[in-house]
Amino acid sequence: MNVYDSDRMADALAPAGYMPTHAPEDADMIILNTCHIREKASEKVFSELGRLRQVKSRAADQQNKQVLIAVAGCVAQAEGEEITRRAPWVDMVVGPQTYHRLPELVAQADPHARSHVVDIEFPEEVKFDLLPEEHLPRGPAAFLSVQEGCDKFCSFCVVPYTRGAEFSRPASQILEEARRLIAGGTVEITLLGQNVNAWHGYDKQSSNSAGLGRLIRELADLDGLKRLRYTTSHPLDMDDDLINAHRDVDVLMPYLHLPVQSGSDNILRRMNRKHGRDDYFRIIDRLRDASPDIALSGDFIVGFPGETDKDFADTISFIDKVGYTSAYSFKYSKRPGTPAASDETQVDEQVKTDRLAALQQLISSQQLAFNKSCEGRVMPVLIERDGGREGQMTGRSPYMQSVYLDGNSSMIGQIVDMKIEQGRQNSVLASVVSDSSVL
Ligand code: SAH
Ligand code: SF4
Repeated sequence: MNVYDSDRMADALAPAGYMPTHAPEDADMIILNTCHIREKASEKVFSELGRLRQVKSRAADQQNKQVLIAVAGCVAQAEGEEITRRAPWVDMVVGPQTYHRLPELVAQADPHARSHVVDIEFPEEVKFDLLPEEHLPRGPAAFLSVQEGCDKFCSFCVVPYTRGAEFSRPASQILEEARRLIAGGTVEITLLGQNVNAWHGYDKQSSNSAGLGRLIRELADLDGLKRLRYTTSHPLDMDDDLINAHRDVDVLMPYLHLPVQSGSDNILRRMNRKHGRDDYFRIIDRLRDASPDIALSGDFIVGFPGETDKDFADTISFIDKVGYTSAYSFKYSKRPGTPAASDETQVDEQVKTDRLAALQQLISSQQLAFNKSCEGRVMPVLIERDGGREGQMTGRSPYMQSVYLDGNSSMIGQIVDMKIEQGRQNSVLASVVSDSSVL
């Protein structure tokens, strides 16, 4: 979501003459787009701001250049004025709902004065309606935000407070943005939302409300769109139409990131997830009926308040049963204002560390087994960028694996049939099977 937002900030600032640069030293303005989901991410902002203070003072001393520094995103939303108290060299603080106003804020900010511009409202106007339609080139795989915010209030999570209530963009606006992306050379679109499958709109044909499955079918009809993905989904919003889209829609990739957080019913209840472990198993069965080779990924939190050895063992047996091709896992982190933060049964730090290591070992072994099981298979790979070594490119398989191959930049944007030669821990190595690309 922050990658998408950062791109949109660049779009919003382009008419004011700003272009993205690669190094802070080249910049006239530096925007930190921040994440507040866990304590570590939040604290990183302040250490990064310490470094940027040096960049700013060097630019003033050596080049007589006044660099503007802005903090955007969820830390800006949550901390507001506090940021300028802790880091007075910050010129602008802008929340995720008001970044469309950046050009105005830049005009107000005076880098010579010790004043700050802070804008962390949840305004009535919808930022998507006000951002410029034109955007800078995105490359072959791009994000498209369709939904923001969340009304689910899991007891550990800060998103409903920093991103606000659940909001769905109108289908017509999403289709228009998708058309523009495709016209600019994008072939794969990932639909984004904090709860992307809570997206709801209006179905013109039946006059009924429509869910993400319907939107996916409409997008799939766009000429030039070769691949679709969506993230992040909530188990409660996996309705039949969306599951069936995995069976019916060719461009919808056989991959789903479906976080569950814990495999213990006791912990799921305490997290206010509103579903149990068996509900998740049933969803996975239905998904695998619809798309037998679907690759699954998830998110897990270990050491949630009150998590016992038995609860953790339930999470391990859960992961064993589902079989993930990758997953993200985190130690529970207290977030200000959330119910779980004031729970008195916090888990010991060392216990969290040990559980995280055990869980990550299991996930890693499942990921490696999956990557190895692909050896010898031929699959279409979207080639996205240089791979880091001379003569190497990288792309994605349908299952979201990182694929490394020998090639050159002229291949960027092509979908090429490739044979998987070697499955590694975090990637696969592949070679081109024929000269004819699928494009
Ligand atoms: N809407 C998604 C999650 C978005 S937040 C869902 O409901 O699944 C992304 C991930 O950050 C979560 O899935 C969770 O694993 C992690 N996370 C959120 N709050 C956290 C906290 N307080 N401590 C540790 N991890 C957290
Ligand atoms: Fe946070 Fe996801 Fe729960 Fe919403 S559903 S409160 S975004 S974890």
